[in-house]
Amino acid sequence: MDADVVIAGAGPTGAMLACELRLAGVDVMVVDQLAERTGESRAGGMHARTLEVLDQRGILDRFLEVGELQPVGHFSGLVLDFDGFESRHPHPLMLLQSAFERLLDEWAEELGVRVRWSAEVSGISQDRDGVTVELRTAETESATLRARYIVGCDGGRSTVRKLADIPFPGTPATMTAMLGDVEFTALPEEYIPMRRCPGGHFSVIAFEPGWYRVFTSEYDYVADPNEPATFEQLRESLVRLAGTDWGMHSPRWVSRFGDAARQASRYREGRVLLAGDAAHIHYPAGGQGLNIGVQDAVNLGWKLASVVHGQAPESLLDSYHTERHPVAERVLHNTRAQAALARPGPQTDALRDVFSSLIAFDEVNRYLASMVTALDIRYPVDCDHPLAGRRVPDADLKTPDGATRVYELLHAARPVLLDLRGSAEVAAAVEGWADRVDLVEAQSDDDSWPVPGVGEIPAPAALLLRPDGHVAWAAAVGGVPDTSALRASLAAWFGPALRHG
Ligand SMILES: Cc1cc2nc3c(=O)[nH]c(=O)nc-3n(C[C@H](O)[C@H](O)[C@H](O)COP(=O)(O)OP(=O)(O)OC[C@H]3O[C@@H](n4cnc5c(N)ncnc54)[C@H](O)[C@@H]3O)c2cc1C
Repeated sequence: MDADVVIAGAGPTGAMLACELRLAGVDVMVVDQLAERTGESRAGGMHARTLEVLDQRGILDRFLEVGELQPVGHFSGLVLDFDGFESRHPHPLMLLQSAFERLLDEWAEELGVRVRWSAEVSGISQDRDGVTVELRTAETESATLRARYIVGCDGGRSTVRKLADIPFPGTPATMTAMLGDVEFTALPEEYIPMRRCPGGHFSVIAFEPGWYRVFTSEYDYVADPNEPATFEQLRESLVRLAGTDWGMHSPRWVSRFGDAARQASRYREGRVLLAGDAAHIHYPAGGQGLNIGVQDAVNLGWKLASVVHGQAPESLLDSYHTERHPVAERVLHNTRAQAALARPGPQTDALRDVFSSLIAFDEVNRYLASMVTALDIRYPVDCDHPLAGRRVPDADLKTPDGATRVYELLHAARPVLLDLRGSAEVAAAVEGWADRVDLVEAQSDDDSWPVPGVGEIPAPAALLLRPDGHVAWAAAVGGVPDTSALRASLAAWFGPALRHG
């Protein structure tokens, strides 16, 4: 084997997945058709759950140093307020995708991820033991790699998805949007938030000193996606909408996109898996795409590592589809709603007025903000505690070794059994998994924990945490913890016990 896992695509999803697999000791190779990073930046921001995920790995400070926290976010241009949200990092971080990729590349290098540039996946064949990946490379006409699994993180037009014959149903584009990073000679304001016009809308955002990101959206034509986007087209689009181009010049990058929304009907086909844009595309409203790709990677990484190491059965990989498909389905749904709310015309103006009044209600703001930030996700796990299946709150803890917090316990991307009541039964139950699961005894500083979408709940007595920070099992204070349910959960997520504890 050339690697345990080959990842096609070194974008945000592929890079994050490679790091997660390396953390778990998997031999991984990333291949990308590009010769090197282009410095292009589609995404410009990250939401709370992605910031939390980076915090869980101990690398968030690197991103906070470079990006800029934003006081508010939006839903189709209508302001969303994140103040008071149940997270240490409630506010969106403005950070260009190019910077995000550079920081992930640095982390990947520290972890020893192998990346092969100028290597385009052109063929896949799978058999009982592995997958053979054909590559078109710069040096040779073709080369092959042999691995146990391949993950297609190769973007919306994914070759891996097509080669695996996985359908990509959804809705086609109904409009045309353009984006350009440019300079202006006569821009009247530093920041023009979404401005609605008869033919669509536009916005101008100062990203870094001296240059601006221009977005235009027009609803009366659908461009051919195969035709290259040009600066002249962007200029004409801005003139149609704004009546002027404000002396726009010196483009760094111009691109075009639409509101097509599609999703792979299966995230796994045997030894082939899909993640990120390869599995789902949608209108980039509210900036959710990069975020859910990174979160796909964090959901898949530990499961794939566990299967590669022979600890868990292959069927664990099916839980990746079960958990992540509905998440992207909901994002497609909310971005379709945002695209509809942005259409021009007096009917939509009226709808937006009504929607603005609704968003002013705290409960509506919280509902939408929890959805866009992905803080309210709850996976279907077999336990009825209110935390089960949700992302664990980052509570402050005291341990015999000093103060810590829950997310610091997840830096190694290993499962953690957090015992907050010093229960001998809980400690005994985990013995059979001592090679895979870290037992941590601690006390919570707080009697209640804040949970997005739920409110305050009593601090639990014990928690089984998956490496992605989701709660697999939890016990409430009072009564005897159900250790047979705990053992069942340990076996379901992390494979059979070495010996019965
Ligand atoms: C205008 C715009 C604004 C956006 N803003 C935001 C935002 O603010 N926040 C947000 O979260 N998201 C945003 N997004 C979405 C975000 O950019 C994408 O969701 C994100 O880039 C997906 O990452 P990925 O790694 O899955 O795919 P990609 O970034 O597309 O990476 C795929 C990689 O695969 C490589 N590749 C392709 N084919 C092959 C092959 N056959 N073999 C080998 N390599 C291959 C490519 O070269 C590329 O490097 C925006 C998108 C657009 C268009």
